[in-house]
Amino acid sequence: MKYVFSFDEWKGKKPKDLAHQLGGKGAGLAEMTRIGLPVPAGFTITTLACDYYYKHGRKLPKELKGQVHAALGKLEKKTGKKLGDPHDPLLVSVRSGSARSMPGMMETILNVGLNDQAVEGLAKKTGNARFAYDAYRRFVQMYSAVVIGLPKEELEEKLRAMKTRLKTKDDTQVPAEAWRDLVKEYKAHFHKKTGMHFPDDPEGQLWGAIEAVFRSWMAEKAVTYRRVEKITGLLGTAVSVVQMVFGNKGENSGTGVCFTRDPSTGGKEFYGDYLVNAQGEDVVAGIRTPMHLDEMHKLMPKVYAQLEGVRRTLEEHYRDMQDLEFTVEDGRLYMLQTRTGKRTPAAAFKIAVDMAKEGLITKEEALGRIKAEDIERLFYPVIRSDVNRAELGSRQLAIGISAVPGAAVGRVVFTAEEAEEWAGRGEKVILVRRETSPEDVGGMFVAQGILTATGGKTSHAAVVARGWGKCCVVGCEQLDISYEEKLMQSNGRVVRQGDWITLDGNDGAVFEGQVQLVMPELPETYYTLLKWADGIRRLGVRTNADTPQDSRKAIQMGAEGIGLCRTEHMFFKDFEQPEKSADRQLAIQEMIVAQDREARLKALARLLPFQRRDFIGIFEAMNGFPVTIRLIDPPLHEFVPHDPERQKDLAEKIGVSVETVARRVEQLHEANPMLGHRGCRLCITYPEILEMQVRAIIEAAIECKKRKIKVLPEIMIPLTLDRKEMEILGGATRRVADEIIKKSGVKLEYAVGTMIELPRAALLADQIAEVAEFFSYGTNDLTQTCMGLSRDDAGRFLPDYVDPNKAGVFPADPFQTIDEAGVGQLVRIGIEKGRKTRPKLKVGICGEHGGDATSVRFCHQVGMDYVSCSPFRVPIARLAAAQAVIEEKAAKKKAKGNKR
Ligand code: ADP
Ligand code: MG
Ligand code: MG
Repeated sequence: MKYVFSFDEWKGKKPKDLAHQLGGKGAGLAEMTRIGLPVPAGFTITTLACDYYYKHGRKLPKELKGQVHAALGKLEKKTGKKLGDPHDPLLVSVRSGSARSMPGMMETILNVGLNDQAVEGLAKKTGNARFAYDAYRRFVQMYSAVVIGLPKEELEEKLRAMKTRLKTKDDTQVPAEAWRDLVKEYKAHFHKKTGMHFPDDPEGQLWGAIEAVFRSWMAEKAVTYRRVEKITGLLGTAVSVVQMVFGNKGENSGTGVCFTRDPSTGGKEFYGDYLVNAQGEDVVAGIRTPMHLDEMHKLMPKVYAQLEGVRRTLEEHYRDMQDLEFTVEDGRLYMLQTRTGKRTPAAAFKIAVDMAKEGLITKEEALGRIKAEDIERLFYPVIRSDVNRAELGSRQLAIGISAVPGAAVGRVVFTAEEAEEWAGRGEKVILVRRETSPEDVGGMFVAQGILTATGGKTSHAAVVARGWGKCCVVGCEQLDISYEEKLMQSNGRVVRQGDWITLDGNDGAVFEGQVQLVMPELPETYYTLLKWADGIRRLGVRTNADTPQDSRKAIQMGAEGIGLCRTEHMFFKDFEQPEKSADRQLAIQEMIVAQDREARLKALARLLPFQRRDFIGIFEAMNGFPVTIRLIDPPLHEFVPHDPERQKDLAEKIGVSVETVARRVEQLHEANPMLGHRGCRLCITYPEILEMQVRAIIEAAIECKKRKIKVLPEIMIPLTLDRKEMEILGGATRRVADEIIKKSGVKLEYAVGTMIELPRAALLADQIAEVAEFFSYGTNDLTQTCMGLSRDDAGRFLPDYVDPNKAGVFPADPFQTIDEAGVGQLVRIGIEKGRKTRPKLKVGICGEHGGDATSVRFCHQVGMDYVSCSPFRVPIARLAAAQAVIEEKAAKKKAKGNKR
């Protein structure tokens, strides 16, 4: 097995598939080398070696030694330097990198190959002893911490003490002798702690570093990151060994990180930070505050121009925004990394649309670049514009750098563990740190927002938070944080753990207390992109809405009708006049407690006007779009009080004895309500409920028609399991409706259909379609009944079934993403059989799944007519429906190509 590849081995080969084996970093370095960009020489050990390492009890494959040795020989030849040479040593970095970017989660060791002799050679050869010893102390510190595992703080403490002695804060002010002494101190410390001498054999150092990188694949922070980011299916990390280039050689050297476009706004500006006389990790760690690229432009125009050229080349090559690392050594530019840059959701839209307009990518590709989460996160709140700014100003604690826009309100915690603990209790928290380190990802993930005292837009906190679209303010230097006392001070104020603060990620401001937030204004490019999606998709997108308000919201989000209007919610609440909600509740409760049909009809007659008014409101809001209204579904016991106090209250109000009420409630009790007296079964027992509801729907529709509002009511019978059942209820529905229509003299079309939410209904769909004009898949119940899983009880074990590190039985939570293998089969069968009977049968979905991108794809594939989801998920469904078409096209094209 070939495990090692030099960067320059890839002439004429396609890049994409490389990342899986070389890791993103290795592939990027090979690719930049291939297209002629200035990259230091080096080689990559593939992820297959890491895979082997873990599959064989942490042993490296036998052939690796020889292969690395050979690649190193080639590297030495190419650079004209030798590892450990006492006169002119080759130094290398040993870098991690998997196929999916995991910023800062794994280890990298710089300046490998230094010992007491080599450092002297390096000093003489470069005529720069300060630099040589700076590199040496960095190496010893990094190696001790990363490879051997000595606590970083102990080493950093020594560095701080030394700087205090020298009365300087700045690394660049430290002379060679002081660095040399520090190395001695480090080594003594190393000896004391480990009983060993610091390894000074360069090839031994190299192997130590390589293994440390492999180990870092399974470090807790890396495992946590993969868990929260749901990264699976990777082989492991690759290891790239790269000739060191030095940004710490003096004023004409430095190191930087940049994005080819602004990662927060997506604007086509070159965005980045540059630190003079520094080595790589200094920028990211936020040790010194870097300068902006424009300043670097002034400082070294030639190098800047070259960098600008690289920016263009790489964007054109990768056809996406790139995140770059570079180093300048004595005025020469070296590229050290390129990867697809993480961006805020707003930037994702802008970059996709801009690149399509620039002709860099197609519209289809632009659509493919937006993820469901990007849309979700666009709707993250911002501070209300009508908040009193002067008052707010008086509560300002500090102002930092805005790393990710949006706003967040939460209670302050100072450690990631506490963040997780508090959030686990349902608290909203803001994680405040001096700087976040990769160990903090778990806590960062659960926090509403993140605030750090140091670091810039390219710091780890910023990069990680950006990937999640999570509000993040960094570099808030006024903050004086005390972890011991669990408090921070700023602007003369003290904020303690548990106090509320508000972050404004748009301008980096931090306020005391809770500030009111609202939904943000959507960027122009959002509308453009979704319009493109609408032009491509075949599936209709409707919404689940029970109120006129929700309906209007959904229309704004692009819904083309209502796929599920649940009538029972109207029994609980009057959305137009909330103070009148009690009237409705009383009427339905009276209906349920009623002893005979007579009394029931009386109570229902009181409900009728409420329902009618609600439907009018919804028809108005939908203005000509179809509205599917589901008749009563939940079991009746859900509507009556269960505690004696409220039962007494009810008895008094409707004028019956408490015993009557209590007895009725007792009667309604069911051992398994989910499979009990609910859905259309209620209307088989109490046809008068159906009659009242149909009357309300049809009368509302007629009134709207009279007012010239277009209406398309679709009456939906829930939980059907048999043709005969549907025939009885559908028949009753039509009788009531036709009679009212006839009397009114208005022409009104309507449809009567059913939900398919029981396996039996799917299996008998051909028969049911004889009497049902449309199907709507209720995949929540269908999932429960097909899998025998109760959604309300599955929380105890389902996570284990989904977690790939536990049982991993299902690829995803079947209540979130449709279980294609099982439930999906019932869906397919139902559609096929239904359309055999009624070729034009309209089919939709109205379960939770209608707003899940993966499930929407499935709905497209099985030939549904529309999906229906909650108003906020409508844009996600629109996008996913378009992506489904694009994928289908691509698959067809590929199949055709294969045939040929
Ligand atoms: P990470 O994935 O954490 O960014 P990297 O492997 O990219 O880790 O390295 C950490 C830092 O060291 C980066 O800033 C990088 O640019 C720098 N670096 C890595 N290799 C070299 C090298 N050969 N010469 C100079 N700097 C390097
Ligand atoms: Mg890097
Ligand atoms: Mg249902």
